[in-house]
Amino acid sequence: MIKVFSAQDFIEVAFWRNYLEQQDISCQIRNEFLGSAVGEVPAIECWPELWIINDNDEAEAYKYLASEPLAEQSLPAWQCVCCGEQSEGQFTDCWNCGESKNEQD
Ligand SMILES: [Zn+2]
Repeated sequence: MIKVFSAQDFIEVAFWRNYLEQQDISCQIRNEFLGSAVGEVPAIECWPELWIINDNDEAEAYKYLASEPLAEQSLPAWQCVCCGEQSEGQFTDCWNCGESKNEQD
């Protein structure tokens, strides 16, 4: 288990989790539920963290993280009709419940 990424914005961490898993890199998010209390600014050690399961994936994970697909896309955010959560435009599925963006209308 190696921590490869951390950000204050959970959506950003969730994006990378989905992205790396699409590349067959197993990973998981830690601190998912910390620092989420309304009105609190979480300390950096409470930020959501992305960890890869297999240490051998480290180099590849960093390669993808360095590619910054977030910056290449500027799709509008959208709201999930299933659970009501907002997802960034680059998500094809709801980060929260997995509902597909394409099925929304
Ligand atoms: Zn949803």
